[in-house]
Amino acid sequence: MFFKSNFSYSNSKSSYSNILQEIDSGKIQSIFFYPRRREIDVLYKDGKKEKIPILYNDQLIIEKATENNVELTINNSKKESSTANSFASIGLFLIFVIAIILILRSTSKLASRALGFGKSKSKFITIDDVETRFDDVAGVPEAAQELKEVITFLKDSKKFTDLGAKLPKGILLVGPPGTGKTLLAKAIAGESGVPFISIAASEFVELFVGVGASRVRDLFDKAKEKSPCIIFIDEIDSIGRQRGSGIGGGNDEREQTLNQLLTELDGFVDNCGIIVLAATNRPDILDSALLRPGRFDRKIEVMLPDVEGRKKILSVHSLSKPLSKHVDLSYWATRTVGFSGADLANLMNESAIHCARENSKKISNVHIENALDKLTLGLRTSVISSPNMKKIIAYNQVGRAIVSAVRNGIDSVDKITILPRSNSIGGYTKINPDEDFVSSGLISKKSLLTKIEIALAGRAAETVVFGKNEITQCSIYDISYATNIVREMVTKYGFSMIGPVSIEDNNDIYIGEGLVRNKSLIADNTSSKIDNEIINISKISLNRSIEVISKNRILLEKLVDTLVTLETIDNEIFKKISFDLLKV
Ligand code: ADP
Ligand code: MG
Repeated sequence: MFFKSNFSYSNSKSSYSNILQEIDSGKIQSIFFYPRRREIDVLYKDGKKEKIPILYNDQLIIEKATENNVELTINNSKKESSTANSFASIGLFLIFVIAIILILRSTSKLASRALGFGKSKSKFITIDDVETRFDDVAGVPEAAQELKEVITFLKDSKKFTDLGAKLPKGILLVGPPGTGKTLLAKAIAGESGVPFISIAASEFVELFVGVGASRVRDLFDKAKEKSPCIIFIDEIDSIGRQRGSGIGGGNDEREQTLNQLLTELDGFVDNCGIIVLAATNRPDILDSALLRPGRFDRKIEVMLPDVEGRKKILSVHSLSKPLSKHVDLSYWATRTVGFSGADLANLMNESAIHCARENSKKISNVHIENALDKLTLGLRTSVISSPNMKKIIAYNQVGRAIVSAVRNGIDSVDKITILPRSNSIGGYTKINPDEDFVSSGLISKKSLLTKIEIALAGRAAETVVFGKNEITQCSIYDISYATNIVREMVTKYGFSMIGPVSIEDNNDIYIGEGLVRNKSLIADNTSSKIDNEIINISKISLNRSIEVISKNRILLEKLVDTLVTLETIDNEIFKKISFDLLKV
């Protein structure tokens, strides 16, 4: 250690026996001896340096060196080793201290997580400069109009307060998923230039009791700091459900959180520039205390877009995408009945992906068609090779198309295919949903019965063609779909012999209350009546389908032949073949 500074070593290694020889031949000038390290440093007369391992306290080297008058320095081995020892022990001590620190730190982290959980990481996101504008939200004109008022509240509250008007505190956005509720809330913040604080209501609730309430407090504290601002609580139904079921431990925590939220809503002073927006698609299960005046007293419905709205949303989402000049977005708007804004955004995105995959420069109608197929029918799976199976699937699909054409008109059939898709057993008949239903959300008993007939038409076609005993289970999903509709008709809508009573529990997620209510409400007698009704309606519908298909047997065979050859029939071909043959 002490000689290292003036000693650097050559690479060529000499062996122990070499050294002995070289001491004899007088090539070596001096030797530094480190008995404890069991090595020597050798300095040659030509300046070369070498480190050689030796035996502990090697006498031979010492003898040879003295014999040949080689300068020999024995290192103060004790001191060296003791220094080394003390370094080693200092090292050990350091490792020990570091380990202790690490352990302490991780346990204290755990402890603080367990004790200071409420204050721990804030789960809300604050955006000071929101870039979303109302131009980004298309197809929901009514909601947008109502919300524009809020911007004036935020920007120019004095105008209203001078007149003695109280500004709204809470606004509830209600609508199916993906219709742009979050987007609208952001647009308000963006347009009025105020910060946007958002949190998903599920973030309030955690394992520990009390976290939710404390997070609600944190959220409102933060909002007061930033006021004027917008608080956005997404999916508020996850904490805002009707209180009082008492079953299941999680409810207590949820109730505390909700209570805190109610308190905070009452607590912040009128007109202080905080507006709370909340979104849900289950307004029916919200606690009534949330909806009373002074809390979320304004309710804005965000509906699925109609055909005009869909066109606008499609164009908003193709702004940054190069469309071929043949693409007519109005046409695609008619093909996407029932799509939400999010679905439409997804459609344009899928189209762009299809386009890029083919290395095309512009998105064409074919790309959009493929994307639409993928979204509605699922991915293509392996092709069916058995001709027999192809035929059975074709009968099923064509049967549905014919019943739909008879009941809803020839235009209701969008596409028939026997190519297997991941969403179905094999094949698919795409039937355009009723625009009226989509825009109003209302459906008649007659349309529901038609839906059931169409769903059972696959089974009907098989029965007509192969006879009662040769049917397959090909229509398994359609049958379960039909049964679900029938059950809703009987137990929810009052569309049956049972009469206008709602028997099924609306709050199916709300286990506690459902259990109690179901038991007390339905007598055994009523239950069996319900079952009988469900079976009855299903059987009648099947028979009506069988009737339609028997009447159209010639058309059925013709369409099946075409479908087996072409594998896919679009509306054009379907119309051409059935125009003369379809018997209503
Ligand atoms: P929600 O909150 O109602 O479930 P979002 O606002 O989160 O739906 O919508 C998801 C995405 O769908 C948005 O980011 C946007 O790209 C698209 N989108 C939904 N509705 C619209 C709309 N009306 N106009 C334009 N884009 C929309
Ligand atoms: Mg949302």
